[in-house]
Amino acid sequence: MPVYTSEALILRTYKLGEADRIVVFLTRDRGKKRGVAKGARRVRSRYVGALEPMTRADVAYYEREQRDLVRLNYVETLRSPLSGASGMSAEALGHVGYFAELIDEWAPEAHADERLYRLGSSVVDAIGGGAAVGPLSRYFEYWLLRLQGVYPSFACAACGGSTRTGATMPPREDVLLCRECAPAGGSSLSVAALQFLAGPAAQPPDRLTADSLTEQASHELETVHRRLLNLHLEKELKSARVLREMRQAR
Ligand SMILES: [Zn+2]
Repeated sequence: MPVYTSEALILRTYKLGEADRIVVFLTRDRGKKRGVAKGARRVRSRYVGALEPMTRADVAYYEREQRDLVRLNYVETLRSPLSGASGMSAEALGHVGYFAELIDEWAPEAHADERLYRLGSSVVDAIGGGAAVGPLSRYFEYWLLRLQGVYPSFACAACGGSTRTGATMPPREDVLLCRECAPAGGSSLSVAALQFLAGPAAQPPDRLTADSLTEQASHELETVHRRLLNLHLEKELKSARVLREMRQAR
C-alpha cells in the first residue's frame, strides 16, 4: 500500500460505524481525498481536536488499490481556526464552516489545485490571526469565483466601457453592466464595493479589518457573490443559509 504525506485542509467529517470517522480533506499536492480515521470518535482518540473544519494539518494516508477511500495514518495540526487568542465567536465559527463547505463543493476529487489550497490556507491563517470575518468572507468568495474562472469581467458586457462608477448584474445573468447600460432591477455594486475588490481584496487577507469594507458594500458583494455561487453550484449552501439566519436573529 503506497503511503502519502502532505499538508492538508480538513473540510468535513462524518460518522462511520461505532468509533470511526470519514474525513474529507484537501491535500496540497493531490487534491481532495476521503479517508477513514480509525477510532476518531473515541474519547482518547489521537485525532481529538485535529478534525475541525479548516484545520491545516500534516497528514499521512494509505491508498488502497481500487478503493476511493484512503486510510488515514495520522493528522497533525499545524494551524487550527480555533487557535485565535480570544477564542472564537459563534459568527466566526459559522464562517469557518462556510469556507470549508465552499471548498468541498468546488474542489473536484483527487485533482490537485494548489491555488485553491493556498486560498483556503491563507484564510485559516487570517481567521486565526483575528481578521474581520465579514470582509474575509467577501475576499474568499471573490477569489474562489475568480480561481474557477466564473467571476464576470469588470468591463461592461454590453458596451465594453468601464464600470468604475458602479456596476449592475442584471436579473438572471452573470455579467456586469455599466450604469448607462444597466436595466432597472438587478444587483448593484457601488464604487465602495468595487474599490474593495481592487484594493484590500488584492492584498493578503490577514490585513483585512472591519474598516476594510462598509456594511452596505459588504451586503452588495454578498448578494452578487451568492447569485454567482448559486448559479454555478446550482444550489444554495447549507452554511450560507445558517449564516443569514444568524444575522437575522441578531
Ligand atoms: Zn455599458
